[in-house]
Amino acid sequence: MRDDNCLFCKIVGGDIPSNKLYEDELCYAFYDIAPQAPTHFLVIPKTHISGCNGVTEENSAVVAHIFEVIPRIAAAEGLAGGYRVVSNCGADAGQTVPHLHFHILGGRAMGWPPG
Ligand code: 5GP
Ligand code: ZN
Repeated sequence: MRDDNCLFCKIVGGDIPSNKLYEDELCYAFYDIAPQAPTHFLVIPKTHISGCNGVTEENSAVVAHIFEVIPRIAAAEGLAGGYRVVSNCGADAGQTVPHLHFHILGGRAMGWPPG
């Protein structure tokens, strides 16, 4: 279901332009507008889910699908050295867009723990 007030729903719908990497019936992948690593893209469900806390028994299949798609896109992007998958949930984690999304960051070594 689309939320007309949601930035990422608008990106999925093409109302806001994005640099698309991949799309299928369930998910959409595009480069982050403010990359935090040499490669930084987002994979999102096409349906509106508010974030990790919005995942339910009814809609969780799309999350499994996204995790099947991520390695394929990462390989196509040349991330043979590895990559990080991040989903910020809520204010403490720094979530700014309330539509479930997975950041894929790669192309450099990363520290742990995150700040
Ligand atoms: P969050 O902060 O919620 O974890 O991640 C939201 C991400 O969306 C941020 O990394 C931010 O740079 C990215 N972002 C915000 N607005 C846009 C946009 O209009 N286009 C694209 N491609 N990325 C966006
Ligand atoms: Zn949305």
